[in-house]
Amino acid sequence: MTERRPFIAGNWKMHKTTGEARALAEALVENLKDCPHKVMVAPPFTALSAVREVLKGSPILLGAQNMCSVREGAHTGEISVLMLKDLDVSVVILGHSERRLIYGETDRLINEKVRLALEEGMEVILCVGETLEQREAGKAEQVVEEQVKRGLDGVAPEDLSRVTIAYEPVWAIGTGRTARPEDADAMHRHIRRTVASLHGTDAAEALIIQYGGSVKPSNIKALMAMENIDGALVGGASLSAENFLPIVNFH
Ligand code: PGA
Repeated sequence: MTERRPFIAGNWKMHKTTGEARALAEALVENLKDCPHKVMVAPPFTALSAVREVLKGSPILLGAQNMCSVREGAHTGEISVLMLKDLDVSVVILGHSERRLIYGETDRLINEKVRLALEEGMEVILCVGETLEQREAGKAEQVVEEQVKRGLDGVAPEDLSRVTIAYEPVWAIGTGRTARPEDADAMHRHIRRTVASLHGTDAAEALIIQYGGSVKPSNIKALMAMENIDGALVGGASLSAENFLPIVNFH
């Protein structure tokens, strides 16, 4: 079986001023010096610069929460992949359900972003996940499979090693309601099979699939014990060192 290195990522969403962001980053750097896992934090755009300074020389990666689908031009209010690279951002979260549902991002737009980020040498966390309505209608697997296929459309096999998929059931995000580890694992297995059908078994076996949706210190261990859960994308519980550190150090 392929050894997959656990990848724990914090998505700070629209939280934290630069001062607050710096303080949290300092606490993480201080406490994660010898962490064997891959760790990333994604502050809001306005705090990237401040957090970058704090993370310098530490193993914690700097992530962004979104980016524009084109490199440059008349796109008021958008942030370019080139600007992110300029700030040493190495990972970008794309297709988050909040982008899909609140801002109307389609699989097609998300796919353009995925391909551009990969072309520019970045790593991508591609988020997928069904709504409660879709789950109750028995369509969860189909919805997630389509999001994976459309999101990865045109991605070169050699670029897949820079893609992480985050399975985040929408009904579990910010609700305190986590998917049962067995149910999450079943969906992760389905995602891995879907990727195997696109890019072969080796690539699918090596793929890191994170779970996201109300991950907290009390449930991380059970989630990480599942065969197909390789990491977590953490929202609310990534906003304090007190909650995020025990998640990162889940053993
Ligand atoms: P949550 O968010 O941990 O607050 O549920 C997860 C996410 O949206 O990435």
